[in-house]
Amino acid sequence: MAGKKTFTMIKPDAVEANNIGPILAMINKAGFRILAMKYLKLTKEQAGQFYEVHKERPFYGELISYMSSGPIVAAVLVKENAVADYRKLIGATDPSKADEGTIRKLFAKSIAANAVHGSDSDDNAEIEANFFFSHLERF
Ligand code: UDP
Ligand code: MG
Repeated sequence: MAGKKTFTMIKPDAVEANNIGPILAMINKAGFRILAMKYLKLTKEQAGQFYEVHKERPFYGELISYMSSGPIVAAVLVKENAVADYRKLIGATDPSKADEGTIRKLFAKSIAANAVHGSDSDDNAEIEANFFFSHLERF
């Protein structure tokens, strides 16, 4: 059964471009409720830990430098079929391949600086939510 939670980050490029508001509006409009949210800046170590699954990929070093380059918004979102529906709302990793009307099509600058993160499975949504939020921070 598909889960009800996913985890997202509004990445440094989108924060820098003053797109927190428009992105949150799209998230709410698409029917996601915000269970938890915070505004913070990751250290390089924390970004490295979050993206540890990509450690062997060629873009890992650049990715963690970028993800620790400025503040982000982290959030847990709730909706039926959250993981798949949110991946659909954000669009493809590479914004040039993202569908019209998706968050990445509208706001991403490049394949690396692609505006938002979205979990790729229910298990990873749980792991990623636990990386950022205690149970006292979920409502
Ligand atoms: N990324 C990158 N170059 C690539 C692929 C990915 O810089 O060729 C970055 C990009 O920021 C992406 C993140 O690494 O969002 C994680 O990659 P993944 O394949 O998990 O894409 P996502 O799940 O974010 O769509
Ligand atoms: Mg991914």
